[in-house]
Amino acid sequence: MFEVERKDLVESLRKKGISDEKVLEALMDVERHLFVPEGIRPHSYDDVALPIGWGQTISQPYTVAVMTQALEIKNEEKVLEIGTGSGYQAAILAAMGCRVFSIEKNREIYDCTQKLFDKLHIRAALRCSDGTLGWDEFAPYDRIIVTAGSPKIPSSLKKQLKKGGILVIPVGDKYSQSLKVLKKLNEEEFAVKEIPHFTFVPLIGKDGWKGK
Ligand code: SAH
Repeated sequence: MFEVERKDLVESLRKKGISDEKVLEALMDVERHLFVPEGIRPHSYDDVALPIGWGQTISQPYTVAVMTQALEIKNEEKVLEIGTGSGYQAAILAAMGCRVFSIEKNREIYDCTQKLFDKLHIRAALRCSDGTLGWDEFAPYDRIIVTAGSPKIPSSLKKQLKKGGILVIPVGDKYSQSLKVLKKLNEEEFAVKEIPHFTFVPLIGKDGWKGK
């Protein structure tokens, strides 16, 4: 279903500057409409964020593509995602051969996405907890991706990143963020790149925004 729409979307992302063929291939392989609520499925291949309920969204495909490209996935990296949401980003990473660990703090969203992953046989370890604290048990990670906007970079995530690993996280105020792309040089030092002008739902937790 929606093969033509998906192909058009992938070509439009290529024109917008996404050049990592592995990322484009995964965007072609993973059927975004399966992660979108039924009523708005016809919009699945518009390049926009869509509501998934509980005030949360499935990220815009362009945003998913930019973040995934920034992760520089080569082969079977162990990736921690904070903010599972619909599961689309996690499914993209799994399709690229990553070993995916993903944390969602909202119990209902977590339950819904766990069921979907079982049904679609998507291999990813999901957990319901505050992702600002990371997932210590399986650390260190080759890559960490945060898909909600944060006022700062949670220290647990820096700690749980492997040396040479990459962390991508939107940082800013509640209305606008830039993507920070950090490469861990050693325990103390990170090389930082910035990609401006994104908007995410807030990362709420001990080391993020306060709230529930
Ligand atoms: N990656 C998702 C986009 C998720 S939107 C996708 O592909 O669709 C961000 C998600 O982060 C929301 O579901 C929200 O509930 C969750 N979230 C917010 N704060 C969190 C926290 N501290 N830990 C884990 N998840 C969090």
